[in-house]
Order: sequence, then structure tokens, then C-alpha cells
Amino acid sequence: METRKAVLITGASAGIGAAVARMAAARGWDVGIGYRSDKAGAQAVAGEVEAVGGHAVLLPGDVSDPAVIPGLFDTFDTAFGRLDALVNNAGIVDVAARVEDMTAERLGVMFATNLTSAFLCAGEAVRRMGTHHGGKGGVIVNMSSKAATLCSANQYVDYAASKAGIDVLTKGLSDEVAGHGIRVVGLRPGIIDTPIHGRGGEPDRADRLGPTVPMGRKGTAEEVAEAVLWLMSDQASYVTGTSFDVAGGR
Ligand code: NAD
Repeated sequence: METRKAVLITGASAGIGAAVARMAAARGWDVGIGYRSDKAGAQAVAGEVEAVGGHAVLLPGDVSDPAVIPGLFDTFDTAFGRLDALVNNAGIVDVAARVEDMTAERLGVMFATNLTSAFLCAGEAVRRMGTHHGGKGGVIVNMSSKAATLCSANQYVDYAASKAGIDVLTKGLSDEVAGHGIRVVGLRPGIIDTPIHGRGGEPDRADRLGPTVPMGRKGTAEEVAEAVLWLMSDQASYVTGTSFDVAGGR
């Protein structure tokens, strides 16, 4: 009997994370569904996971609070007893602002949510998956953004900086754990049609910017999820320490 693998996805109640959860379940993975407050969204995704034969566990909690993170992994351990992959996906944008107008409070929330949480979740995953800790190896996929290289002047340089930090985490952590059975990889999505733009006060952002992309359109969460699933798979067995764009040429 084929054993199902288990993936913990932060921010899986909506958008890209939800698409990864649905696709992973359909391809033989059990799924931990992290989310901050959207219980209805997370429950809906869990229902879709179970509809294709997967097992799901809900993992509520604000990852910007470091004290929350160990509990997410403990709940996941209790549900599945194994961890084969982590998708560090939870992330936020704030409203458009220039750097000179960014407060310390805004910056603190941005970096705690998008960057510190990814470090702490990666640490939890390494302690479970690393062969140097008695684990069986695994994969960490970090969700960066094309903003990490475009830098997002006049919109959200803070967000772009948090994602540039994610790219550094991907390469630096990969170098640390490549000899311990763990691959660490990153993706930089471009303009993807998800609720994040509305949360940043620009619900029409993907429609407005889609035509400016070289491919002439916005991307879908499923197009990003396809790349995540490939990176999580054994087909990507020699891929680590790198991040690549899923951005329609942007
Ligand atoms: P989304 O707003 O649709 O979903 C975000 C998910 O993260 C939700 O499940 C939400 O509950 C969770 N989340 C947010 N803050 C959290 C917190 N503090 N604690 C726990 N969970 C939290 O976003 P999305 O567009 O699907 O984005 C997913 C990832 O992809 C993010 O890291 C984002 O920066 C990145 N990304 C998105 C785009 C895009 O155009 N949509 C482009 C590049 C990168």
C-alpha cells in the first residue's frame, strides 16, 4: 500500500495556499491547513481535500506571534505522525505607501508575518525532517514574490524586502541542510489572482496590472500550485537552494 505523504501549508484557507492544498490532496498528500482567522475558508478547503481522498487538519493561529508556531506543528504531528514537506506560504501586503511614511508598527507586522514566521516554521520543519535529527528528509518551499527583485517602489518596499529576505532564507538554509536530506526551494509569483490584493486595499490590482505582464494576463493560484507540487515531488530531487519566477515573464 502506498503511504500518503504529509505537508503543512501556512496560509491555506485562501488563494495560492488553498490551491496547493487541493492539488496536493489530489496527488496523494495529507494536508495541514494553516490560517489566521478565516475558519470558513479553511473548512471549505479541508472538505475539498477530503473529497479527493486526503486527510486534513486545521491549524488556526497567527504566525506573526512566535509563540503560536510550535503548537501548529504539534497539532500536525498528532494528526499525521510525519512531516514530509512545509510550504511557507502565509503572507500579507499592506496598503500602498512610500518608505518615508512607513511606521515601525507596520514594519514590525510585515516582517513578523512574512519573514520571521518563515524562519521559525522552517526551524520546526528541519528539527522533524532533518536526518541529523533522526528524520527522513523532506522539502521546504518558501513563497517569495517577484517583488523581491522589482522592489515595489511607491507601493510596498517593506513587502518586497520581506520577500528578498525569504530568498536569502531559501539559499542559506538550503546550504545548511542539503546534506541532511532536506531540499529548500522558493518561488516568486508575479501578479496572481487571489484575495491578497483586496486585503491590501486594491481589489482590482490583478485585473489592472495583468495586461502589463509580458504574457498579457494575470496568473492563477493553480499555476503557482503546479510549480509548488513539482518542487515537492521526487521529480525535483536535484533542485535545492534556488528560487524561480512564476510570473508570466514579468
Ligand atoms: P491570500 O491573502 O489570498 O491568502 C493568504 C493566506 O495567508 C490566508 O490563508 C491567510 O489566512 C494566511 N495568513 C495571512 N496572514 C497570516 C497570519 N498572520 N497568520 C496565519 N496565516 C496568515 O494571499 P495569496 O495571494 O494566496 O498569497 C500567498 C503567498 O503568496 C503570500 O506569501 C504572498 O506574499 C505570495 N504572493 C502572492 C502574490 C499574488 O499576486 N497573489 C504574488 C507574489 C507572492
